[in-house]
This record gives sequence, structure tokens and C-alpha cells, in this order.
Amino acid sequence: MQEEVCEGVILRMKDLREADLLVSMYTRTQGHMTFRAPGGRTSKRRFAGLLQSFSKHEVAFRRTRSAFPILLRLEPLAMHTELHADLHAFAAVSYAGELILRLTQEADVNPPLFELLDTFITYCHKHSPLSEKALCRFHTRLLQLLGLQPGLARCLECGRNIEQERRIFFDLSQGGMLCDTCPPSHPHRIAPLSQDVRGLLICLQRRQATDFAPHVWYKTIELFDLRMTHLLGQPPKSRDFLKQLVGF
Ligand SMILES: [Zn+2]
Repeated sequence: MQEEVCEGVILRMKDLREADLLVSMYTRTQGHMTFRAPGGRTSKRRFAGLLQSFSKHEVAFRRTRSAFPILLRLEPLAMHTELHADLHAFAAVSYAGELILRLTQEADVNPPLFELLDTFITYCHKHSPLSEKALCRFHTRLLQLLGLQPGLARCLECGRNIEQERRIFFDLSQGGMLCDTCPPSHPHRIAPLSQDVRGLLICLQRRQATDFAPHVWYKTIELFDLRMTHLLGQPPKSRDFLKQLVGF
């Protein structure tokens, strides 16, 4: 098979047999891919210390008949070595990487999602520790790019405008709003919502400047946490560590 080239960020590495590594990357033109790096565990020469989490490379690879394409060479574009000395930034980027890996299928191509990851990595080590605002913006953009952005104007069930409703809910299964009178699709999968949080979500979706009290930002993060846990079927593994460090 022919050699191919793409741009990618290393998100996860796992040992494979004695000498090899499995390297999961998110790439600009191929989406999420997992490569076999022959000698990646043992050979200092072959990848010359380039197999580092969150580094960005031009990647040369060859598809094979087996499950994993073979990683041939890496041409570093950004090593982001500073990340490994900054625990806060490392935790934030680990969380983003876990979400992107687990919420995408192999070969779902989504170049704007690659841009989001790339920009977020650079952002995190320039603006460490991560702010609650940056975390909300990341979640919003991620859901938009995955086609999972919630509708915020109307009740999912009856279509009623919910702007004036005193009590509203977020239906985690369907990913949208419910009014007070509509039954949820699954009674245990709803979260009560304030109009403040709904207002903040609208501003985030429109990328407007957002002037909300800190508790509204924290409530919004709680909602994103519930949503991510529902989408993954369990809480993201790296979320607790990030929470311990940044406090939200
Ligand atoms: Zn309704």
C-alpha cells in the first residue's frame, strides 16, 4: 500500500507486545486514527523521542491488512514540551483529548474538531490554569462540532417557547430543554435548569461576550459534566483530576 501523510496530535499511547506502541491520534484529514509504531517502546532512534502526548506532527503512515496502519515517520510541528511541566495545563488537555477520542469514531473526518483541539492545547499552556469560562467555551464548541448542540428556545416535546417558564429541565437523553409540563423521555435522565444557565448557554452558542455571576458558570459546568457522562455512559476518566486541580 502507498505511503500517506496527514497532520495529527498524539492523544494516547498503549504498549503493544514487547517493542511496539499503539498510538491514537486525532488528525486533520483522517479524523481519529490508531497507528502501530514498530519499535515505539524500545527504539530510541526510530522516533527520536517524538512520541509524546499532545505533540503535533506531520505523520507518514501506511495502511495494512491488519487493524492498525503502520506509523512510518513523524515530522514534529509542535512538541508542546511545556505542557509536561504544567500539571494544570496537562490535566485540561488530557480531559479534552479523552472527550475527543471517546466521542469520535475511527475515520470520522472533522477538520474543525482538529482545529479546536489544536487551539485548545496552545490556549491551555498560555492561560494556565484553565478558567471556568474557557472550559464552558470548549464544551460548547465540542458539542457544536459533534452535531450535539442543544436547542435552547423551545421545549423538545411540545415546542412551546420556554423563555418565560419558571421551571425548565434539561433532558440528558435527548440533549435539549423540556418545559414543566412535558414528561421526560426517561425520568432519571433530567436535570433541573435555571433561566440563568439557559441564558449563558445561549450566549456561549452565539459566542457573545458573557457577563454572568460565577455560580452560573459553575452550574453550567455541572450540566456539561452530566451531559458528557451521559454521552460516554460513564464519567470521563480525566475529569476528576482536572476538578481537583482547578476546583470546578
Ligand atoms: Zn413541553
